Amino acid sequence: MKRTETPINPLRLCRLASLRNRYLAAMLVLTALFTTSAVLLQHYVTGVRSERTASIEMRQQAGQHSRLLREALLEAERALNGYLRSPSAQQRQAVFAAVDTARERQQQLFALPWMQHGEYHTEFASLAQDLRALHGSLDQWLMPRAAGSREFPHELFARLWQPLHVLEQRLDDSATIEVGYLLNASNNIIGSIWLLALGALLLMLLGFFLFQRYVLGPISVVAHALRDEAHGKHELLLPLPATAETQHLVDAFKEMRRQVAERQQALEHQALHDALTGLPNRVLLQDRVQHAIHHLRRLGHGGLALLIMDLDGFKEINDTLGHPIGDGLLQQLGERLRQEVGDSDTVARLGGDEFAVLLEQVDEKEARHMAGRILHLLDQPFEVAGQSLYVAGSIGLALYPQHAHTPQELSRRADVAMYVAKREKNGIALYDPAQDHYTLQRLAQASDLRSAISNENLLLHFQPQIDLHTGKYSGVEALLRWHHPQLGYISPDDFIPVAEQTGLIRHLTYWVLDHSLAQIAAWQHQALPRGSIAVNLSAYNLQDAGLALEVARLLKKWGVQPWRLVLEITESSMMANPARALATLEKLNDIGVQIAIDDFGTGFSSLSYLKQLPVDKLKIDKSFVMHMNEDDNDAMIVRSTIDLAHNLGLEVVAEGVESAAALELLHILNCDAAQGYFISRPLPAAELAKWLATSDYCQGYQQAPEHDAPAPDLPTTH
Ligand code: C2E
Ligand code: CA
Ligand code: CA
Repeated sequence: MKRTETPINPLRLCRLASLRNRYLAAMLVLTALFTTSAVLLQHYVTGVRSERTASIEMRQQAGQHSRLLREALLEAERALNGYLRSPSAQQRQAVFAAVDTARERQQQLFALPWMQHGEYHTEFASLAQDLRALHGSLDQWLMPRAAGSREFPHELFARLWQPLHVLEQRLDDSATIEVGYLLNASNNIIGSIWLLALGALLLMLLGFFLFQRYVLGPISVVAHALRDEAHGKHELLLPLPATAETQHLVDAFKEMRRQVAERQQALEHQALHDALTGLPNRVLLQDRVQHAIHHLRRLGHGGLALLIMDLDGFKEINDTLGHPIGDGLLQQLGERLRQEVGDSDTVARLGGDEFAVLLEQVDEKEARHMAGRILHLLDQPFEVAGQSLYVAGSIGLALYPQHAHTPQELSRRADVAMYVAKREKNGIALYDPAQDHYTLQRLAQASDLRSAISNENLLLHFQPQIDLHTGKYSGVEALLRWHHPQLGYISPDDFIPVAEQTGLIRHLTYWVLDHSLAQIAAWQHQALPRGSIAVNLSAYNLQDAGLALEVARLLKKWGVQPWRLVLEITESSMMANPARALATLEKLNDIGVQIAIDDFGTGFSSLSYLKQLPVDKLKIDKSFVMHMNEDDNDAMIVRSTIDLAHNLGLEVVAEGVESAAALELLHILNCDAAQGYFISRPLPAAELAKWLATSDYCQGYQQAPEHDAPAPDLPTTH
């Protein structure tokens, strides 16, 4: 999911005009445009108004003066008529005064701006002439004559009235024109307002178009991209930024996309890797196996191997030294594995102390070789927090295509092989179909075993031992029994390894110790012959630093002398981490409990090695004892073991005594103690109590005082 994003380029940002600046510029131009239009309109309106006001005022003046002139002329006509009807000096005087007033008013009228402006004083010059003529001819008209000859100058007055009418007509016309002007002006204003409105509408449309193009468009593209991103589609093209703001938006989006991708990668890594070691986890391993299988199918040849390794003794390190130490060990092991396997193959941590290695293009031989090299990695101790830690490991191997055809099958088969390797303690096991069913069943037992311990569904059987020197009962070995509700009786040989693998063994051993010591205390109360009690320890118990403390606590709890408790360990149980095992043994030895080496002869250690251990007894493995009467070789081994053990000061117990002949031979070979079906099978506590009360081996048995030495001082009957 690689994506290349153009990083934010500040130079490019500068070059792109900001939308805000563009908006400001456009608003400035628009404001200027509208203001200019308003100013022009206002100027026009003011112009029209002042012009028209002046002209109206002039016309009003002119109208007023023409009315006054009309009144004066009427007065002159009336006075003249009066004089002509009854002439008198007074009447005559009145005629002269009226004509003078008319003349005066005519002159005032003609001096008015309206008259000047319209050049009416020239147009109506006849009015002035006729008035002058009237004035000049007044004496003639007012001459005293015979009444019959007195005549009114109709013609002259008619000439005077006529221009005055025309003038008034003009005044009316001018008012009409004025109205026209005003109408025109108002039309102009309305037109301008419409024009402005249209302009504003167009600008709004343009604004919307630009807004759509530069803002809404890019926003919607980015919104789409965001939605697609949220749905996991990353290929969507982002808008080509046209403005600084869209550039910011696109850059911010790209930045977000980059960070989301980074976080997603981190999450993917987390989901597919183990947090502690950084190695691929089970999921990624399955995926790689799947890919490898696909690849091989395409090629048509070649194989692959899956190795699953489980550590022995890791659980104990975790439990006793703490998780941080355990974690440190796992990290170091992860690193060692990575270096050993290299980059071309996959190392994974499956969880807990389980690792897996996927080897591609290998055959069985190469896979086994690599498994050997991996086990070799555990030879060197792990140095964690100043401590040297050893762990052993078991590796299961499964091959494709020989053992499985799917990744799930392959890992299950490798798991089965791993459990076989663990059980057989041989380090490496190749998958064997014959073991499969058996192993799976055992896996299911693990959880049942856990509940069996807590529900007390386990019980102990006790197998007596006799002292070969006295021929009398000397003690018992406690052997664990489990009756599974569905599966019936399950052998400890089967479920003890399960307990070891699941870490239940610690709890289980404590349980056995507790119940064994309780039993021996009970027999003590019943006045039955008292001897020692042997409890088997597993290799894991020797890595448990708390074991000695628990043993001491339980001895105290049941009031049992330490020497009565014998702890049986095997040689191989010392191997996982000899230093720690030795430390545990020494602590147990300090408490005063006895230690026996069980199944002697099946392991690898020499007697001289045992010399360094605080060991009291040695149990010759039943496989030698059972056949020594028929097999000289076995007899030889038994004999020399007894001799060498005695030389080292160890007591020898032979187990697997199935016949009187075997018992006899052991006696001859100077063996110290014997245990086997010939003496008694392992028995439940109640039956053993009966055996103790009735068996020949217990007849004449005297109770040793509690403070006595371990070996009871008894009379020899043999
Ligand atoms: P082991 O410690 O070697 O115990 C002796 C085994 O030999 C017992 O088997 C016993 O029943 C069997 N046996 C005794 N006498 C004879 C005989 O004359 N002939 C034959 N053929 N077998 C005889 P069992 O009880 O099935 O125990 C098997 C193993 O399970 C034990 O071997 C021991 O390693 C382990 N085990 C039993 N109980 C415990 C326990 O409480 N804790 C641990 N860690 N391991 C236990
Ligand atoms: Ca044993
Ligand atoms: Ca044994």
